[in-house]
Amino acid sequence: MTKALITGKARVAGVIGWPIHHSLSPLLHRHWLDEYGIDGAYVPLAVAPENLQAAIEGLRALNFVGANVTIPHKTAVMPFLDDLSDKAKQIDAVNLIVNRDGKLWGDNTDGDGFITDVLSTGITPKHVLLIGAGGSAKGVLHALLSHCDLQHLSIANRTVPNAQALAKWAEGLFHMKQEVEVLELTQIADVFSDFDLIINTTSLGLSGAGDMSWPPDNWDFSRLKPDTLVYDLVYNPLETPLLRCAREAGILRRNGLGMLIEQARPAFAAWFGVVPQTSPDLVYDLEKVLLSP
Ligand code: NDP
Repeated sequence: MTKALITGKARVAGVIGWPIHHSLSPLLHRHWLDEYGIDGAYVPLAVAPENLQAAIEGLRALNFVGANVTIPHKTAVMPFLDDLSDKAKQIDAVNLIVNRDGKLWGDNTDGDGFITDVLSTGITPKHVLLIGAGGSAKGVLHALLSHCDLQHLSIANRTVPNAQALAKWAEGLFHMKQEVEVLELTQIADVFSDFDLIINTTSLGLSGAGDMSWPPDNWDFSRLKPDTLVYDLVYNPLETPLLRCAREAGILRRNGLGMLIEQARPAFAAWFGVVPQTSPDLVYDLEKVLLSP
């Protein structure tokens, strides 16, 4: 692929996080800028928490077309923006900023990225086990309840009050008729069957975290239907310990790389005016980086 030129007219976007050196987003957006021959740039922006407001002012001053926002700034950034989408307000987190004539608008595309990737597998989630109750779980749950007609939802988390708070938020926002089942992580083994979608939104299994007891030995993957989808938001390593267990049991599985790509597509479209496509070349480029030592 030929490299697109960066001229004096280039549109510039970036990703704000702390730290930011692990982010795959610069590579992802560079791939699309080259693929579509767009005069633009996308840069990593390492912003310490105490500099967040100044960094957001800097986006305006430097006439950035926008930015992605990642850990730990997704909620903290909200007061510094001019306007927010309803979804960002509901989820209480922003991962996308668009500069509209000097006004900064915040949105959240994480959940949509997740659901687009899940639905691309052909499954229709009805019975869902959501593991984790942090920021990404909220985006994922918002998307699930916006796009799917769930019959049963269980939320399991290490800290049960966090899962209870997430369940209450979902029940209130979506006027859910069915009650949400809240579990401790240790209770998952007892209910580990009958789900058609199991999602890990915790950081357990992340490369270098050394969680040797994850997933627990007493989860019996043979009790799952082969067309259950086990989805891990973690994508580093590409095959997480949870996905390895799913593979060994012959269960459908997916890591979070598809979600990462799907959440980026509307961002790229908003900044650079082209709706980019996912391609095997793009996935190969990202996987190559993740597989390199
Ligand atoms: P948060 O910090 O908001 O939430 C972390 C969650 O993980 C909480 O439920 C927390 O439980 C749980 N957790 C953390 N450590 C442990 C542990 N040792 N044992 C049990 N539970 C634990 O993080 P996010 O929700 O923002 O991110 C979670 C993961 O999702 C990260 O790995 C992130 O990289 C990934 N992610 C992937 C995306 C993608 O595009 N694929 C997008 C966004 C996130 P508790 O409530 O008890 O603290």
